[in-house]
Amino acid sequence: MSFSLAAMQLLQPDSPVIRRDCRDLCPDCNRSRQSCFCKYTQPFATKTHFVILMHPREFKRQRVGTGRVTRKSLLNSQIFVGVDFTQHDALNAVLNDATYLPLLLFPGETAIPAASDEMHATLQDRNLAIIILDATWSSARKMLRLSENLQKLKRISFEPSDLSRFVIKRQPAAYCLSTIEAVYRLLEIFERRGVEKLQGKHATLMQTLDAMVDFQLRCAADPNLPSHRLKSQI
Ligand SMILES: [Zn+2]
Repeated sequence: MSFSLAAMQLLQPDSPVIRRDCRDLCPDCNRSRQSCFCKYTQPFATKTHFVILMHPREFKRQRVGTGRVTRKSLLNSQIFVGVDFTQHDALNAVLNDATYLPLLLFPGETAIPAASDEMHATLQDRNLAIIILDATWSSARKMLRLSENLQKLKRISFEPSDLSRFVIKRQPAAYCLSTIEAVYRLLEIFERRGVEKLQGKHATLMQTLDAMVDFQLRCAADPNLPSHRLKSQI
């Protein structure tokens, strides 16, 4: 898993391998039918509602983005594209729903550790609505700076002990996890704490990520594919 983000960067948006043809794009993952990642997903239900907020740059480039595949994997999820979500009605409907405890997955001094007793005491009898920014670090900060509704949210974060050694080795901070892996880590914690009863179904998220990485590495290793030249850029 340590090479996942690097591998995601192999396929550049201008690569002929993924050159867009609007007539033949998968509506879910926005990739060509030939390289559609949806076949790698195994959708499952969660108690937790996930809202993925995708920066338009991720929407267009999809290089390191796993947001769409995460959305496809989680039956109880939504994905919205934008930068300033202050007036976003569908998001605000979730944030104002009293049956949810909405939490923004983002680091910060006041962020509640996902595995903490505090998080579970705060939850009470509500369901979690986890808001995730699917963007580069700098784009995510901009989204947060512009979105007043997101600024007001309580935050949830990982602790280093929640993360795999690979992640710690490769990523400067937990918030640099790919969206699909971040969701997996959260669900693993929620499962452990009894918030979810998934019986291991969430492991399919990492299988999906593995399959995506394998696909991209295969493309990179094939000298007949134009993306082969990108291998040297890792
Ligand atoms: Zn697809």
